[in-house]
Amino acid sequence: MTPEEILKQCQEADVRLVRFLYCDNGATIRGKASALSGLPGRIADGIGMTVAMMAMNALDQLQPVAGLGAVGEIRLVPDPDSFAVLPYVPSSAAMSCDMLTGDRQPWGACPRSFLKRMRERLAARGWRLRASFEAEFSLARQDADGGYVPFDETVCFSSIAMTQAAAFSTELTAALEAQGLVVEQYYPELGHGQHELSIRHDEALRAADNHIKLRESIRGVAARHGLFASLAPKPFPAQAGNGAHVHFSLWDGEGRNLFYDREAPAGLSQVGRQFMAGVLEHLPALVALACPSVNSYRRLQPQAWSSAFTAWGYDNREAAVRVASPFWSDVEGSTNLELKAADSSCNPYIALGGLIAAGLDGVERGLDPGQPIDVDPATLSDGERAVLGLHRLPSSLDQALDCLVADAVLTEALGEMLARSYLAVRRSEARAFAERDEAFELRQHFYKY
Ligand code: GLU
Ligand code: MG
Repeated sequence: MTPEEILKQCQEADVRLVRFLYCDNGATIRGKASALSGLPGRIADGIGMTVAMMAMNALDQLQPVAGLGAVGEIRLVPDPDSFAVLPYVPSSAAMSCDMLTGDRQPWGACPRSFLKRMRERLAARGWRLRASFEAEFSLARQDADGGYVPFDETVCFSSIAMTQAAAFSTELTAALEAQGLVVEQYYPELGHGQHELSIRHDEALRAADNHIKLRESIRGVAARHGLFASLAPKPFPAQAGNGAHVHFSLWDGEGRNLFYDREAPAGLSQVGRQFMAGVLEHLPALVALACPSVNSYRRLQPQAWSSAFTAWGYDNREAAVRVASPFWSDVEGSTNLELKAADSSCNPYIALGGLIAAGLDGVERGLDPGQPIDVDPATLSDGERAVLGLHRLPSSLDQALDCLVADAVLTEALGEMLARSYLAVRRSEARAFAERDEAFELRQHFYKY
């Protein structure tokens, strides 16, 4: 769409403000909005923003990061392909933005430009990654004291829960479809107030844009029903955590799924195995990108179906990478891997970019993923896990960040400025929450993700 076409669509839909959105190092979705007057110019030029925002943590504490201080500006330049009128708020639309420097170059700390760079690495081989984030979230009401209480106390996949939440879930489905997302499944999940909605996979950049739309829509539609929705990894310590499992597969230019090989065991190709091996090899560091909040490590525990070891397996829901059963009607098209060690406190551009860098390293080095694990790895002894090469994933954000610092493949992929600002922001969150109690942590994560 041209800027003029976007303006026309806004006029027809009675839009007054168009949000220029980005997701920061703390995975908070932020932005500025343009009125219709001057909109085409702002689409072309972007909206100016201080460089300091990429040094801001999730508590709005500005971190000292060299070059990201009071002096200097980047431009938030929207991608017209991501334009959508927002069905859950009046007269508003949104687009996802890249951060460009004054000379129109991708800025070193821009997460979306990082994912584009990783996409180019794949494109150099004629490949594309398709992905989808499955959103689990907790629906809640606010009690008289301002605390959050689960919306229901129903059980997993319960039809009663479906009925109780139907006004919300059907409006959410319609809102997502109106924004061009293809909704696949919805169901009430295990925890009180926990629900899950999955959307169809798409090319990597679009998949990350879609996850932003999904996060925004879940909260926005819930608010219309007087409810609060949290995609935080563990909003209620006694309830199941919220994952954002990433389903992914590699495709060539002719539309063939490179993860599929009819002759291979379970149809998983050699390239699929190598890509998975790369993800597993880098996983202790990759979780710093995919499970990057303090709250993530309440979820990422053994026997919580969120994964806790560097294991893979066929439909093993305690494995960090699950080889998902394909659909009978389209085995080639639906062969895919699922990374369970991911949650919605991640920046989806950074997490997917990291996933690509890790997977490609596996392909380049011809890595082998080892044996599939067909038990819950937590039930094995330390000795058995050592023989199988299974390692416990980091159990805190600080540990994960230490693994990231030590991982040259991922830090080189992120690039100097993004790696440095990301580490500063996430380290500061680990420090800030270490000084406070559990109630503060839960409250500060609840309505940020
Ligand atoms: N809620 C689980 C998690 O934290 C996932 C449950 C499932 O869908 O298998 O990832
Ligand atoms: Mg689930």
